[in-house]
Amino acid sequence: MNPKLLFWVPAALRMGLILLGVGVLWWLFGALPALVAAFVALLVMVFVQLNYLYQLSDWLDDPKSGKLPDGWGAWTSIFSRLYRLRRDDEKNEAELTEWLARFRQAMHLLPDGVVIMDDVLFLEWCNPAAEEHLGLRHDRDKGMRVTNLVRSPDFMDYLILGRYDQPLTLSFRERKLIVHIIPFENRRQILVTHDITETQRAEMMRRDFIANASHELRTPLTVIVGFLEIAASEDLDAATRAAHLKLMTEQGHRMQHLIEDMLTLSRLESVDHPLRPEHVDIGKLMEQVLREARGLSAGKHEIDMTVEAGDLMGSAEELHSAFGNLASNAVRYTPAGGKIHLHWRDTAKGVQFVVEDTGIGISPEHISRLTERFYRVDKSRSRETQGTGLGLAIVKHVLLRHSGSLTIKSEAGKGSSFIVTLPKSTAAAPQPELLAG
Ligand code: ADP
Repeated sequence: MNPKLLFWVPAALRMGLILLGVGVLWWLFGALPALVAAFVALLVMVFVQLNYLYQLSDWLDDPKSGKLPDGWGAWTSIFSRLYRLRRDDEKNEAELTEWLARFRQAMHLLPDGVVIMDDVLFLEWCNPAAEEHLGLRHDRDKGMRVTNLVRSPDFMDYLILGRYDQPLTLSFRERKLIVHIIPFENRRQILVTHDITETQRAEMMRRDFIANASHELRTPLTVIVGFLEIAASEDLDAATRAAHLKLMTEQGHRMQHLIEDMLTLSRLESVDHPLRPEHVDIGKLMEQVLREARGLSAGKHEIDMTVEAGDLMGSAEELHSAFGNLASNAVRYTPAGGKIHLHWRDTAKGVQFVVEDTGIGISPEHISRLTERFYRVDKSRSRETQGTGLGLAIVKHVLLRHSGSLTIKSEAGKGSSFIVTLPKSTAAAPQPELLAG
């Protein structure tokens, strides 16, 4: 039914009933009692309306404090509609609070920085990533001009010139950032920062790696091509040809080692190649490493071995590559007559593979850089001994995959200790046949 009718029909009926009552009283008792009764009825009605008005004003002061009365007459519909409005309001508020909480959480988790500024660059809000990227503090800096907070000439120029069609690449506080400005609403703008420090570093490492690898491959290739040109243009005697062939074979092997090491490194780094731990027979592995080290030394060193701990879980092939590289380094960097000791032991820190040598040692300034690709203390010595400069990088990656670590202790001229520590959790359970025995 029409709401206006709903309001007016009951009111008219009530007024009609009062008039009817007054008319009956007039007819039965005369004019005075009827007028007095009409006056009293009017007073009661005014009092009821005033009381509801008072309750309404009380409730409007603090709508959350209590419930509205059911009301009488037209008040019933007014109160129930007001009550419904308040309930809808509360629901909307709760939904809004929830959305705001979700938005805040998303903004907190966002790796990109977001700054909201007004049209004259005053900071209104920023997320934690923006605080980190630009050194801002939302609670401290709110209401301040962003160009006064981020002190970089490039950043100021970019913001002041307002040419936002191109992003800005900004070097700020040892970070490389890509900065975008997006105008939004009428008088606001969003500043977005994207940190590309890591990507740039990875890109630089990749470029360095390619440059180094090309250089390393070019050197033996130049030697081979040189000899081939001589062989093609000159009539060489048998002895010279044999000497040239020997040198070319050596250079060929060098290239082969280098490519094998590069392939090993790329396999170790590949995410498509996760570690599948298997039981590693440490006795067998250590024997193999010892045999190879003795083979490389060709009797020039005194090499011995102690095995004091049990087997472990991991990749036998990768661990062989890591342990083998460390043992081969010890042989290559220890002058003839030196001593080398291989040790597999159990310690409080974990199980350890230790290679100790009495070789040329390493000065302290080089130690932290030894696991970088192609880093060598003495390039010519490394090449003389068939080094590729990738051995310790391979060791580092194998250990990363096994949650292990490498400690290097060395003194120039006195010798070195390379200590591989693997967590005890990699220790293998004893083999069933060993238990039975
Ligand atoms: P390389 O193939 O040149 O040996 P590595 O990555 O295995 O490459 O080692 C990096 C550098 O660390 C070597 O060039 C060498 O200078 C130094 N180094 C490694 N092991 C030893 C060692 N046992 N004694 C002295 N220097 C070492």
